Parts: sequence; structure tokens; C-alpha cells
Amino acid sequence: MIAVLKNGTSQKQIDSLINWIESQGLSVHLSAGEYQTIVGLIGDTTKIDEDLLRSLDIVETVKRISEPFKSANRKFHPDNTVVKVEDTSVGGNIFAVMAGPCSVESRQQVVEIAKAVKAAGATMLRGGAFKPRTSPYDFQGLKAEGIEYLLEAKKVTGLPIVTEIMNAAHLPMFEEVDVIQVGARNMQNFELLKELGRTKKPILLKRGLSSTIKEWLMSAEYIMAGGNENIILCERGIRSFDSQYTRNVLDLSAIPVLHELTHLPVIVDPSHATGASRLVKPMAMAAAACGADGLMIEVHNNPKAALCDGPQSLTPEQFADVMGAVKPLILK
Ligand code: PEP
Ligand code: MN
Repeated sequence: MIAVLKNGTSQKQIDSLINWIESQGLSVHLSAGEYQTIVGLIGDTTKIDEDLLRSLDIVETVKRISEPFKSANRKFHPDNTVVKVEDTSVGGNIFAVMAGPCSVESRQQVVEIAKAVKAAGATMLRGGAFKPRTSPYDFQGLKAEGIEYLLEAKKVTGLPIVTEIMNAAHLPMFEEVDVIQVGARNMQNFELLKELGRTKKPILLKRGLSSTIKEWLMSAEYIMAGGNENIILCERGIRSFDSQYTRNVLDLSAIPVLHELTHLPVIVDPSHATGASRLVKPMAMAAAACGADGLMIEVHNNPKAALCDGPQSLTPEQFADVMGAVKPLILK
């Protein structure tokens, strides 16, 4: 439930309303905009007498919200969230581009790719140190050593780093990581989400392999309920019936839908969505044109030799070409 307050309501009146709501066993999310103050009532709102609330002097309107996501809901928070990451951001005026290898393979590899993607205009460096692989016999990532190499690449290029976490017990290793990625396979690992809610780190939350938009937003809600509002959503394709020509189905309609439903920024990963390097450019262009706040793209200096996801990885030259094609389509 939300209550929109009348213009000119004093802070004292707002505080007293909040005290009353809290005394009913609910919590409050306050959005104090330039022209409007909106009070979000979080919890079991059946306890609240809607007519009583509406009758208060300071209340203009009251609306029941049926969506179960409260903190992520745009109705409570009309302005876009801008997630700050070092000197750059996601969701503001900058079109964020996170680029780099699927997995960190060596110091030299990641530094070389970081320099190349930076030269082409990437705003962040991605690279997996802990890899969620379907087979336990596949390369599992360099783990702590991988994070160390990413940090070295950051030192050389200045690019903030994005890397995936799979286990909350690993959090101490992520202290210097700029954006912590939650992969598709962990989107509903609720204990991990709760732990990330206790940090202040920006979290890149990828859409689960077969998750609905509502489930995805509820996962964001898990992190936000712990107090961490720095969330970036990433559409990376979902499972459907036809995987013969594309690895997943890129749900681009999720982008404008999410912009309606939530204030959180949304980026698109055309690499995992398509699984094919030649499809990355058209899908990256489409993502920019439909209002994505950025992209995540896999880039490798030698895709044929990549230890993970080579077929969908771009060479640095191909990446530069994609950046050039995307630029005129960005809606910012
Ligand atoms: C990745 O970004 O390398 C990755 C494993 O992505 P996803 O979780 O979307 O499959
Ligand atoms: Mn990958």
C-alpha cells in the first residue's frame, strides 16, 4: 500500500505518520521527491484501515499495490536508481558496458583484454573467477587467483571489475570487487541473496534460466530487504522450446516492462542469450534501441582457445565494431 502525501506536509507530520504505521507492525519506505512524498507501507497491510489513512489531513491518495515487490517497485520510488561504481555508474546518463572474458584464465590474458575493451569504450571489466559449469569436470575458474588478476587489470586500466560469487562464504575474497555478480543459476539462492543484502556492494543480478520477471524482482527484493539497494538487473536470455540455433531466447520485452515496474537499472547480456558471437552485434544493437541501461559482453583475445564460452566470445576487434554500431542507438 502507498500513501501519497499532500504538498507542504511538514517533517513532523511525516514522522508522526511513520510512527503510527510502525506501531501497527509495518515498516515504511519513504520516497521524498522534489514535488511529492510517497510513503510505502511494507508488511501485512491488511492490518491498516485504508479509509482511515485516506481521511488523514496530510494524505492525498492511498493505493493498494498488488505487486509483492515493494522496495524494487517504481510506484514507491519514481526516480531511476543510479548505481555508482567507482567513477562510473549504471542507470544514470552513462551507457554501461561490462566486457571481458567468460573466465579469467591468466594474468596476461585478462590485462590484455582489459586494455582492449577499455580502448573500445567499455566502462567495466568482467571476468569469472568462480565459474558455474554444468559439468564438474570442466574448468571451474582460478578462484582467488582470478580475482587477484582482475584487480591487477583494474590497476592497469582503471576499469572497475565485475565478477561472480557462488557461495556467501567467499565474500571476504570479494572485498575489493566493485560489482558482485549473481549468476542465472543462483538467482534464487535465497541465503546468498540475504547475505548480499547485508553488504553495500553493487550487485549484478542475472535473470534465472527459466525465471519470470516477477520471480526476478522478488530476488532483487531479497537483497533490498537486507538494506542493499545497489542492484543492477541483467537479462541474459531464458529457456524456451527452441535451442537449436540460439542458446537461449533473449527476452528484450523484459527491458521496457522492467522500466515500468522498477526503478532499478537493467542491462542486457547478448553473449549468454545467443551463445553465438555473430548474433551478439544485432542483439546488442536491439538492446540499446529498446532502452537498456547497458550491456555485458564476453570478449576474448583468442576465442577458439577460450576455456569457457569461446563460441559466443568476440575478439577485441569485433567488440570495437559492436561498440560503434551500438553508440548511435543508445537512448540516453
Ligand atoms: C557469466 O556471466 O559468465 C555467466 C555464467 O552467466 P549466466 O549466469 O548468465 O549464465
Ligand atoms: Mn560465460
